[in-house]
Amino acid sequence: MSRPLLFLDVDGPLNPWAAQPERRPEGYTTIRATVRPGRPLRVWLNPAHGPSLLALGYDLCWATTWMDAANRWIAPVIGLPELPYVDFGDGLFVERPDGVHWKTAAIVEYAAGRPFAWVDDEQSGADDTYVADHHPGPALLHHVNPRIGLREPDLTALREFRATV
Ligand SMILES: [Mg+2]
Repeated sequence: MSRPLLFLDVDGPLNPWAAQPERRPEGYTTIRATVRPGRPLRVWLNPAHGPSLLALGYDLCWATTWMDAANRWIAPVIGLPELPYVDFGDGLFVERPDGVHWKTAAIVEYAAGRPFAWVDDEQSGADDTYVADHHPGPALLHHVNPRIGLREPDLTALREFRATV
């Protein structure tokens, strides 16, 4: 039996961007990433996240606007190896009239029927419906609060889903 995929968003689950600016959550470290020309982005990252995610028994894959830049800026800080990533291409940030997130169709296509979990701070019911209609295998769309980031209850949910596929 093959391992399920785990699609990982960065901003929200790994970088709790919506936390109060003066209150970096406990356990996090700060990096300043210069992904594009201009002012560096302040990013909070938790070095415990990588080992926790690796222990879940999934094949990890970035599903983030950072795309391959996540391997340069995020992975080394949180203890992840270089990971594959979903290439959103021209679909990056392109809103759909039906309310389905712009990542969703690309994620479903990437999964190609394999069971997957998707950790993000932006899914909605429209995404659950889209996945149910277009993805033949099991899927868990797991929402993480971007003020808090990924925590133990989220890991528990991922473990429980993992045990069912
Ligand atoms: Mg996000």
